[in-house]
Formats: sequence, C-alpha cells, structure tokens
Amino acid sequence: CKKQESLRHFMVFSDSLQARLQKETRVENGLHRALANNEFELHYQPIIALDSHKIHGVEALIRWRLPDGSLLMPGDFIEEANRVGLIGDLGVWVLETACRQLRDWLDQGFMLSMSVNVSPRHLRQAGFEEIVHNVIRKYQIPANSLMLELTEEVFVDSGITSLYALNEIRKAGVGVAIDDFGTGYSSMRYLKSLPIDRIKIDRCFVSAHNEGSLSDPMITQAIVFLAEGLGLDLVAEGIETQEQAAELRQQGCYKGQGYLYAKAQPSDRMTELLRQQVVLVAG
Ligand code: C2E
Ligand code: MG
Ligand code: MG
Ligand code: MG
Repeated sequence: CKKQESLRHFMVFSDSLQARLQKETRVENGLHRALANNEFELHYQPIIALDSHKIHGVEALIRWRLPDGSLLMPGDFIEEANRVGLIGDLGVWVLETACRQLRDWLDQGFMLSMSVNVSPRHLRQAGFEEIVHNVIRKYQIPANSLMLELTEEVFVDSGITSLYALNEIRKAGVGVAIDDFGTGYSSMRYLKSLPIDRIKIDRCFVSAHNEGSLSDPMITQAIVFLAEGLGLDLVAEGIETQEQAAELRQQGCYKGQGYLYAKAQPSDRMTELLRQQVVLVAG
C-alpha cells in the first residue's frame, strides 16, 4: 500500500513542482490565519458495530474551511502544520473541540466514545499528557470514552518520551489505538509490550482495489488473530461494501468504519445519525 502511495505522490510532485511549492507557501501563511480565525472544523465518522449497525463511537477528522467556502482535507495541511511548528496548537484545538462536542452529545443522552488523531510530534512535546488531563477535567469526560489514535511510527522510533506520555494517559483511563495498522514498522515483539488498547486495520487491506471483497483477506485475518491473542480491541477502517463487512465479521472483526456506513460529517449531521442510533445501509 505504501509503495502505491509514494508513487502517486512522486508523480504529482514531478508533474507540478511549481504549483506545489506555491500551494505550500499558501498553506503555511494560511495556517496561522486559520487558527486565529477559527477556520478549522471537526467532522465525525461513526465507528459502528458490524452486526447491529449501532454507533459505538466516532472518529474526529479535521477539515479546513477556507474563507471562500472550500474545504481542505488533512492531507493538504497536516504535514505542513508539523513542518512549521503549528501541530501542537492545532492538536490542542482538536482535543478541546472534540471533547466539548463529546460533552454535548453525552449531555443529550447519547452513549459513545470519541477517537482523536494525535500527531507523533505533538505527543512528543513536553506536557502533552497534562493537556489531555486538563481537557478531560474541563469537560468532565469519562476517561474511558476518549481514545487517542497514533500511527505505528510513534511506537517504533519516538522512544521514551512518547511512551512515558502514553503510559500516563492510559493510567488516567484514556485509550490508545494504533492507527493504520500494518502499514508501518511495528514488530511483533514491540506490539506485545506496547501501551495500547486498540488496533485499527489500515483501509488498504480492506478496500484498496475498489472491488467487492476484502482486498487482503489473509492480512486482515492475521491481524484479527493478533488482536485476539493480545487481548486488544479491533476496528477495521475503510469498509466500502457489504461483502467486506461480512467477511470481516466472519473473520472475527466486529467493529468498523467506512463509506459503506457514513463518511465523516459535520457535527449537526452526526447528531442526526446519533438520534437514529443505527446507521442505515442500502441493499
Ligand atoms: P486516519 O486517522 O486513518 O483516518 C481515516 C481516513 O480515511 C479519513 O480521511 C477518512 O475520511 C478516510 N476514510 C474513512 N472511511 C473510508 C472509506 O471507506 N474509504 C476511503 N477511501 N477512505 C475512508 P481524512 O479525513 O482525509 O484523514 C486523513 C488522515 O489525516 C487521517 O487518517 C489522520 O491520519 C489525519 N488526520 C485527520 N484528522 C486529524 C487531526 O485532527 N489531527 C491529526 N494529527 N491528524 C489528523
Ligand atoms: Mg485515525
Ligand atoms: Mg487510519
Ligand atoms: Mg491514515
């Protein structure tokens, strides 16, 4: 999966280096303004139980609403935010906004958990665990209804600071998930001792080829066994067809998210989905 992606990026890069550099400058200038002007939004994608279609939780995914009304996706600006040192500010905004929204939903009587993506670089910053503690205290969030998603690289090369922060966070009861599992470099030996609660199967093993069935059923099955053996919660990403959902269930994966159920959507539309309690799927 990685290879395909870097090839695509390479082609985009060589095609329009000039355009890309211009875009980067625009993004960098814009990021400062965006934070000051509150141009970011969180959209929410439901994580559902594959058998009942009940909503188990949501994942918060950031978007940037430009003054002209257009919407930028995280792929267009997260790396840049990392590069120019704004990822900490952005990360705090995301945590704060997600927890405020969760408080609101809990107050309306919905039971759900909130998953938040955290940049490895933000996690490494001094005091990250304090930020998490403060925000859950501020919004009176039950710690076990918040989960932080981190990619595998965090566990492999960020070393002791990150592990300390993760351990502190988990001591407080907040969950930790490995995102995009299977695309990075975790070794089996690490996996066993890592401070984690959940594995998220990367979507390239689920729906990469635009076909009906799982794109890599042997890998998904192996990850299911791994999660079972290690006693970890499991979520599949990128479910786009009924067939993929059925196969995952048969393999022993009972939670997932993907376009089959719902794309990430603004909070008011997510509230509507929560009112329905289950996600309706055509067919
Ligand atoms: P991720 O955390 O792995 O999030 C899943 C991505 O897959 C999201 O893209 C989601 O919209 C997309 N997706 C979900 N279901 C399907 C499906 O069925 N098919 C396909 N093709 N895609 C699906 P999005 O929102 O563009 O986010 C991309 C990545 O950006 C995220 O990957 C995450 O790594 C990062 N990201 C998003 N929000 C944040 C944030 O608030 N902070 C940080 N640090 N990173 C974020
Ligand atoms: Mg994620
Ligand atoms: Mg992912
Ligand atoms: Mg991803």
